[in-house]
Amino acid sequence: MRRFVVLLLLSAAGSPSVFAQAARTKAFSHADTLRGSNGPGRAWWDAAFYDLHVAINPKDSSIRGHNAITYRVLQPATEMQIDLQVPLEVDSMVQDAHTVAFRRDGNAFFVKLAAPQTVGAEKTISVFYHGKPRAAKRPPWDGGLIWQHDSLHNRWISTAVEGLGASAWWPNKDLLADEPDSQRIAITVPDSMTDISNGRLRGTTRNNDGTTTFEWFVVEPINNYNVEVNAGQYAHFSDTLTGERGRLTVDYWPLAYHADTAKVQFRQAVPMLKCFEHWFGPYPWYADGYKLIEAPHLGMEHQSGVAYGNKFKNGYSGRDLSGTGWGMKWDFIIVHESAHEWWGNNITVKDGADMWVHESFANYAEGIFTECQNGKQAGTDYIIGSRANIKNDAPIVGAYGVNDEGSGDKYYKGGSLLHMLRQLVDDDEKWRGILRGLNNTFWHQTVTGAQVQAYISEKAGIDFSKVFEQYLTTARVPELEYKIANGQMSYRWANVVPGFAMPVRAGVGNGAETWLRPTTTWQTLPNTGSGDSLAVDRNFYVVVKRVKN
Ligand SMILES: [Zn+2]
Repeated sequence: MRRFVVLLLLSAAGSPSVFAQAARTKAFSHADTLRGSNGPGRAWWDAAFYDLHVAINPKDSSIRGHNAITYRVLQPATEMQIDLQVPLEVDSMVQDAHTVAFRRDGNAFFVKLAAPQTVGAEKTISVFYHGKPRAAKRPPWDGGLIWQHDSLHNRWISTAVEGLGASAWWPNKDLLADEPDSQRIAITVPDSMTDISNGRLRGTTRNNDGTTTFEWFVVEPINNYNVEVNAGQYAHFSDTLTGERGRLTVDYWPLAYHADTAKVQFRQAVPMLKCFEHWFGPYPWYADGYKLIEAPHLGMEHQSGVAYGNKFKNGYSGRDLSGTGWGMKWDFIIVHESAHEWWGNNITVKDGADMWVHESFANYAEGIFTECQNGKQAGTDYIIGSRANIKNDAPIVGAYGVNDEGSGDKYYKGGSLLHMLRQLVDDDEKWRGILRGLNNTFWHQTVTGAQVQAYISEKAGIDFSKVFEQYLTTARVPELEYKIANGQMSYRWANVVPGFAMPVRAGVGNGAETWLRPTTTWQTLPNTGSGDSLAVDRNFYVVVKRVKN
């Protein structure tokens, strides 16, 4: 999803270096550390299976349920951290048929385990809880439980918790680095409603109290913020993709009164999946399927069940974010959120600080889809047009270990960075191989940003470390400075990190483009010719500056 992070500290005017400094000195709390780091109550256990059961009561906006957490013991331990956010309350925790003691520290619970935790053993702890979860204020950005009505006044309930965390509505290890191997999501709602969650529906049970339980099951690893509720009056139709791994089920769940509109708009999904399979490799969730589910918020990359709320219009809420016209040729939410099935869901970052791996590639995928539909030039125009949204307000990479995300530039600047790497690789098939290779190498895994960077450099055979450092960890745009003396042109990089030496394609005057290999020291062009200006190929996101001698 597109997340707009407001860094109050950074709102004052100042130079980029001041911004970078401010970002580094941003204050984080004890609670941020508990939430964002792989602390001592977390590191010793590995989530294997979440067996989640939640009953939703729309009458008083409350929920009640339990999660049976099955985990593997990696290290001996006696204290376990389980996250559940205020104002929700834990009623009890049970292991081996005995209740266990726990203490609360804000949004984290520390459990005193009585039973031995033998390394290699698989254990289960059940957490029973209830309460009125935080209601979303401005979903999907400021998330929580969404208590809505559709335009026919039917209840419509949904979840959107990216950044905020899954523990806003269910107890778990709320850390991106640890995904369960599989998960049950059993949601109980009033009989009049249908719930659509992730994965596949295993059963529907009519209870004797006016409620129905929908049991959904995900058989592949899932990142916790993607676990979803979508309860309302839904219609269903389906399609299939004959893809790289065989037959993929494609299911659509619009609100019942939108079925006809959805049947037209959702035709975009299958060609998009084909395009992404070509560029990024097989869709990652053949076993769990692909779904588009209408939601009462703009959208979210919920795994194997993308939440869709773009009102069946092309563009982003009816706008073209690139300003080129290409962004109106397709539905932003279908394309961007589905791209996250590869970038974000298949490859998930261990720490929100590296969220660029999700969002830069998702923005880049928008350009790739444009390329699939309308050719390479169109895709290029889309990415370059999207640069208008870059703010250069703070570094893209956030602070580690505190559930922090860096600048919103992780979308467009990150996308432009990837587009630039493609120029530097200078071989489209090799570049496509790198994109597919990332998804294959890190298939169903959590990663660090550094792993992704190292992979790209290694497969490209080019050390991009300084390019990544410049564009991801500073808010400065490289300046290609040039000057002319005695009819000779000299050039160098300025406003860059030490050692930055990215090649660029550039032309002198009206001359043909050639590769320049600037460093931070002046180099003189052997033949300046008649031109007295330097123009860098527009595929490179840099500033060109003529300086005085
Ligand atoms: Zn996104």
